[in-house]
Amino acid sequence: MVVWEPRIENMPPEELEALQYRSMKTLVYRLYSFSEFYHARMRAANVHPDDIRSLKDVTKLPFMSKKDLRDGYPDKTFAVPRKEVVRYHASSGTTGKPTIVGYTKNDIENWTNSLARSLTSIGLGPNDVIQISNTYGLFTGGIGFHYAAERIGAAVVPASTGNTERQIELIQDLGVTAMAATPSYMLHLGEVAERMGISIKNDTKLRVGLLGAEPWSIKMRDRIEDWLGVKGYNCYGTSELSGPMFSECSERDGIHIWGDMAYVEIIDPETGEHVAPGEKGEMVLTMLQKEALPIVRFRIGDITSIDPEPCPCGRTHPRIRRIFGRVDDMLIVRGINVFPSQVQHTLMSIPEVGEHFQIIVERKGTLDTMLVKVEIKKEAFTDNIVKLMEIRERIAHRLKNSLNVGATVELVEPGTLPRYEGKSRFVVDKREF
Ligand code: ADP
Ligand code: ZN
Repeated sequence: MVVWEPRIENMPPEELEALQYRSMKTLVYRLYSFSEFYHARMRAANVHPDDIRSLKDVTKLPFMSKKDLRDGYPDKTFAVPRKEVVRYHASSGTTGKPTIVGYTKNDIENWTNSLARSLTSIGLGPNDVIQISNTYGLFTGGIGFHYAAERIGAAVVPASTGNTERQIELIQDLGVTAMAATPSYMLHLGEVAERMGISIKNDTKLRVGLLGAEPWSIKMRDRIEDWLGVKGYNCYGTSELSGPMFSECSERDGIHIWGDMAYVEIIDPETGEHVAPGEKGEMVLTMLQKEALPIVRFRIGDITSIDPEPCPCGRTHPRIRRIFGRVDDMLIVRGINVFPSQVQHTLMSIPEVGEHFQIIVERKGTLDTMLVKVEIKKEAFTDNIVKLMEIRERIAHRLKNSLNVGATVELVEPGTLPRYEGKSRFVVDKREF
């Protein structure tokens, strides 16, 4: 029942490129001929499908962004008649008004199959019980994982978000082996379990976390593993791609982007030019098979790089490294670029620090100030002021070294910062621009 397609997944890279080129060419002809939106765009950019003579020529095509989907709300960028649409979802609206995405029957099939391949590459299958703790509904997370988990023959527990105590009971009672969630929900679940006197590590069979939907660092992954005994696999997707679609394989060293489904480019967000191979930049994706809502050179806004080394698992499709952040959640503090993921990475390497933090940026006069509120672990929290001051100093020093900009650190008691069941928000930016 697993979905393993070695003929495609292990295809020699040159063949994969040839396949991508053919799909790209077909896509561009289809859109030029049948989509008013794309026809107008290509005309405006003075490019005709005949001009695409190799994969490199893709750079002649104009970029697309969330703004195009917002301007075309709800479905002006769709490329099929209404009667071919079988489902709608919406983005979670992290960066503005949620956009609507639509699917044909083939779109649902390709989405399901992609994620099912990914789950198989992790080693999941019919012996697994997979609890889906992503939100079901308009958000693509819950239903996306649901379909893929069923496809590989696993037993699915459609828990959705919330009611955490009940979720923990189900994990115990049904022998859940894997769970799809945001990394922050995984942590929350661990805390609630502890309060109930249950150790996820010792009292349950949960061993695999299908984690994503928000940036999370390797250090966070290590913490989840040490504390809960759950190996976290990074899962990636956005509503525009269909939903969660790609993940790390058993190597846990980068996310395979199925090349028959998607063509990846990494650009310099300032110039729009490709960065050198292996360098970090903004990811741009073209979905090669999508029908209802095609995406061509879409600027997703996520920052990552492509790992040029072949993956030891034998799959030849490009691997992207951990998402570093979004172009739009990069904070500029006193002229220095700061990503919340860097702060998380630094904090998680300090043993006394708990899993939750918040960054508050303000402007006093003309000067930006950054305050980092940090939850201390229960066992490290003491009323010994000298000890607490020492920890605070150490954190401030480490942050300054890694970010190149100073921050005031405030230690707070365990359990006092906000928890999120869906995507977490690490930053409060109070500045007015
Ligand atoms: P939005 O949040 O933009 O409204 P989505 O609900 O489609 O729309 O969320 C997609 C976004 O979630 C991605 O662009 C990315 O920023 C974030 N995301 C998803 N998976 C991951 C991951 N594994 N690591 C980091 N960020 C992720
Ligand atoms: Zn691999």
